[in-house]
Amino acid sequence: MRVLKHLLEKNENWAAGIKQQDPDFFKRLSNQQSPEYLWIGCADSRVPANQIVDLLPGELFVHRNVANVVVHTDFNCLSVLQFAVDVLKVKHIIVVGHYGCGGVKAALTNSGFGLLSNWLRHVQDVRDKHASVLNALPSDSDRADRLCELNVVEQVGHVCQNTIVQEAWARGQPLSVHGWVYDVADGLLRDFGLCITSEAERQPVQEAALAELIARPVRAGLTKG
Ligand code: ZN
Repeated sequence: MRVLKHLLEKNENWAAGIKQQDPDFFKRLSNQQSPEYLWIGCADSRVPANQIVDLLPGELFVHRNVANVVVHTDFNCLSVLQFAVDVLKVKHIIVVGHYGCGGVKAALTNSGFGLLSNWLRHVQDVRDKHASVLNALPSDSDRADRLCELNVVEQVGHVCQNTIVQEAWARGQPLSVHGWVYDVADGLLRDFGLCITSEAERQPVQEAALAELIARPVRAGLTKG
């Protein structure tokens, strides 16, 4: 089928529904966007950024890739980050991992996915860095869940270390970097108390969050729902 009629129909209904509640909604949005948040999450179809935090178009700037990885030389991610921080002046960057992440599982078990295996090498670096923590867990399922959590802590560190965020902090721009994990099994986000708001906080807060995370059972965020 060359035309995805059902999706176009769904789109018409969706737009009509929004216009019914707020006739000027799209007209307003067409002039500018001013989101307060940048979401860096996994490309997994079960983790749709706006829906999870119940935000409308215009309220969330989004970058997604397999296993929510922030690589220092990834110009795709860095371009999103720069636009979000320097132009949109978002106040919060949220790195969101998720339990049941196929990318993280593949990285954990060395499952081959061709080209993707090279991308997942970044998650394997996190795995290898925390090998003793992961090896102490009783099952592959626990190890995968913990690696999802550790990967978020690591990627939050990468967000904080790049020049875009460093320069924003240096000029006094208010900017917080958070790390969350979403559970596809219950639709809820877990907050691990990881929130970094300055270069001075970066290392101590990241290290404290990591120590607290490792001391807690797998999947036990500070808030559950
Ligand atoms: Zn995933």
